[in-house]
Amino acid sequence: MERTLSIIKPDGVSRGLIGEVIKRFEANDIKIIAMKMVHLTLDDARKFYAVHKERPFFASLTDFMTSGPIVPMILEGENVIEKNRTLMGATNYKEAAEGTIRRDFATDIEKNVVHGSDSHETAAVEIGFFFNQFEMNER
Ligand code: UDP
Ligand code: MG
Repeated sequence: MERTLSIIKPDGVSRGLIGEVIKRFEANDIKIIAMKMVHLTLDDARKFYAVHKERPFFASLTDFMTSGPIVPMILEGENVIEKNRTLMGATNYKEAAEGTIRRDFATDIEKNVVHGSDSHETAAVEIGFFFNQFEMNER
């Protein structure tokens, strides 16, 4: 069974979309095995998005991700990394398929409601960034 990290970003939390996003995961046979609400510092956000540090949107993205609380979750299911990316839709909501979270709710290429790991390697690193062994509900 595969795992991935999902985050409801500050725009999703402040606009009251936590329930809507979770509903879509559960309706698609994705199990939420861990979840919390946290408010990142700028240092945390820079670490989390380090892969993008040379990109022109890095400063704005890290400001946005620290602008309010976020809801990181560990999702579990068959092929869940790709499945979550499909449910999220393309980074740019204008290019996202109909019925995806970003197409339905994003307001901007940056303010696109959700994050999802893009590979097995990033999923493992990103889950470890937010959750320790006591929070993984494995007992
Ligand atoms: N982003 C942005 N402008 C861009 C590309 C990305 O503001 O031109 C933001 C957006 O919030 C995106 C995040 O940076 O979700 C990470 O970018 P990535 O390319 O990893 O997209 P994702 O994996 O989230 O679809
Ligand atoms: Mg990405």
